[in-house]
Amino acid sequence: MNKREILLRKPQSAYERTDDGLWPQIEAFCEAYKAFLDTGRTERECVDEAVRQASALGYRPPCRENQNGLLYAARHGKAVMLVRKGTRPISDGLRIVAAHIDAPRIDLKPYPLYEKDGFAMLKTHYYGGIKKYQWLATPLTLTGVVILADGRKVPVDTGDTVLFISDILPHLGAEQGKKPLSEAFLGENMNVTAGTRPDAETGDDRIKLAVLSCLHDRYGMTEHDFQSAELCLVPAFKTRDAGLDKSMIAGYGHDDRVCSYAAMRALFDAKETEYTCVCILADKEEIGSEGITGMKSKFVDSVLEDLCAGQDTTLRDCYAKSFCLSGDVCNAFDPNFADVSDPKNNARLGFGPGVFKATGIKGKSGSSDASAETMARLRSLLDKAGIVWQMGELGKVDQGGGGTVAKFIAERNIEVVDIGVPVLNMHAPMEIVAKIDCWYMYKACLALFEDRQTPSAVPNTE
Ligand code: MN
Ligand code: MN
Repeated sequence: MNKREILLRKPQSAYERTDDGLWPQIEAFCEAYKAFLDTGRTERECVDEAVRQASALGYRPPCRENQNGLLYAARHGKAVMLVRKGTRPISDGLRIVAAHIDAPRIDLKPYPLYEKDGFAMLKTHYYGGIKKYQWLATPLTLTGVVILADGRKVPVDTGDTVLFISDILPHLGAEQGKKPLSEAFLGENMNVTAGTRPDAETGDDRIKLAVLSCLHDRYGMTEHDFQSAELCLVPAFKTRDAGLDKSMIAGYGHDDRVCSYAAMRALFDAKETEYTCVCILADKEEIGSEGITGMKSKFVDSVLEDLCAGQDTTLRDCYAKSFCLSGDVCNAFDPNFADVSDPKNNARLGFGPGVFKATGIKGKSGSSDASAETMARLRSLLDKAGIVWQMGELGKVDQGGGGTVAKFIAERNIEVVDIGVPVLNMHAPMEIVAKIDCWYMYKACLALFEDRQTPSAVPNTE
């Protein structure tokens, strides 16, 4: 090798570094992921599907007698953790992948329904960071649960029809076009059109009454029941292949179900796990990981504390020796909007999952900023397993920023790094990922779960 070959880094795409013979496996993995994405449109549906798949493989709730060491624990049907006991004692630490299953969407307000100008309308309150205009004039489905006055929990799904938030026609959009985006599209105006046909009953608000009748006929709900409901609007289209070469996947909620699915499948598929492995699928990341189903909650610790107690160790000691991948998607370089990125340090579609030493905003504010030692550990793990991966940063310095669950893992004294699939159109109703990146994210999770590093090789208290 000459000097150039030894000293210089030469970025090579995952396509160039992947044997063609692997493609049937990659396609099969992505087909299963696409099905997961269509089934899991909300965190609740993701939990249901994760529990369904885990149960079929022998995972059981921890309270029950379970000899095979496969556990799942769900919280309010909105967050779930899967645990696979290793051959080593739990005091040697855990191998964790934490991802989130909530995604930006449009929630209904507590009292959503009203009638105006010949329409029944629903008032909304968006969830997560969205560019509001992307959610106008796009087909939406109302989904979620309502808990009726008698305590019955009824799933709601209006998948047989389409709801929508209307937008001004271009012919009359001149004034709208002059406004900055932050003023042209207001959250308060994102009202959903729900109906036009009046009820046969006489009196006021006959269109509203007719829409309520539909909800009552189908779900048994009255207007009072919105008080104990979680109803949200999600894109109404199915996950599709994208590109003429079908190298990408277009779908709603890749952030962060693509990492969630990779983590879950890796836990299921890992051949042998020396360490106890944990896959955390958390809720509420998009609004700061708050709430009892978010990563700040003690829910995860409670379950793991019981496991530690069962093996006469403390959670504290177990955490100090654990290693976690915070599996969350990253921004992919976008040639249409190249100026927001530093092309040298922006993750690219088709170059494998992006590893982020730091996230945050401005001077890495709000980021757990992994150490060189932690990065070395991850680098060695990924390289030994033949994973194609890249490093990334969230746009130009001072351009903006964002966070992940990593800092809430780090608060627990667990070594953690962010890694995730690069996404185009992040937080839009239709997000884009490259199939090959999904595959290598899965392989990266697999490498962590099949980790055989001896605990003594990594001193934790230097
Ligand atoms: Mn995310
Ligand atoms: Mn996000």
